[in-house]
Amino acid sequence: MSDKNISKVALVTGATRGIGFETARQLASQGVHVLLAGRDRTKAVEASLKLQSEGLPVEAIALDVTQADSIAAAATEVARKHGRLDILVNNAGVFRDDMQRKPSEQHLDVWRETFDTNVFGVVATTQAFLPLLKVAPAARIVNVSSLLGSIAANADPASPIYDFKVPAYNVSKSAVNAWTVQLAHELRDTRIKVNAVHPGSVKTDMNAGGEIEVTDGAKTSVRMALLDETGPNGGFVYFEENLPW
Ligand code: NAP
Repeated sequence: MSDKNISKVALVTGATRGIGFETARQLASQGVHVLLAGRDRTKAVEASLKLQSEGLPVEAIALDVTQADSIAAAATEVARKHGRLDILVNNAGVFRDDMQRKPSEQHLDVWRETFDTNVFGVVATTQAFLPLLKVAPAARIVNVSSLLGSIAANADPASPIYDFKVPAYNVSKSAVNAWTVQLAHELRDTRIKVNAVHPGSVKTDMNAGGEIEVTDGAKTSVRMALLDETGPNGGFVYFEENLPW
């Protein structure tokens, strides 16, 4: 455990399972006080209890990234209990595309549901927590994107993801990348850094055919959450590698 992280407070959205849960575990293992956020408070409490039983500094918080009231209540709770936020990991995400349909055939409600969580949820959560992130000495924002959001990789016949066209999901992550660049520009003269990450193809409920274990899948989020002042702002990374936009 690193002493330098002990006073930090992090919030991880969508942390009831998968990459978010493991990100919460790894941050807490480094001494960070982690607010484990779940849209269902009961699930968030259950997940927090698991990590608390491992001796980790984790606290449950209810946060549905598609519900303005829920986001506002979470921000008020964090302000009251902690007065600031050092790390925001925008991890919550959904994959709703029907794999049997061509890109042009995906239902509009699939697009809307995907964008509500993966894009508007990220923007709304960030807007709500930015005042608390500005109070922290050097806050970090991690936007969990995907290589599937890389327009360059989608357009490159040599890319391993070239034939994986699930448009609502892929375009939602392209939007997350574009938003990351917009916000990084706004924050460029502050001590806050915001970056987009690709966790890898990770074995979770979302990706049964994933190639890496969740312990490795959380590592890029954790690395970008704990960046020192020499780290990038406005990057798109996978482990140490910069990815094409
Ligand atoms: P997962 O196992 O399906 O977990 C998704 C998490 O997001 C769950 O905790 C879920 O909560 C939560 N969530 C969904 N909608 C939410 C909402 N409206 N408000 C708050 N939380 C919500 O997925 P995962 O594989 O861990 O994915 C985590 C992130 O990594 C996502 O952004 C995903 O797009 C990204 N990613 C994953 C992979 C991969 O290979 N797995 C690759 C690239 C990127 P509930 O438990 O309540 O449903």
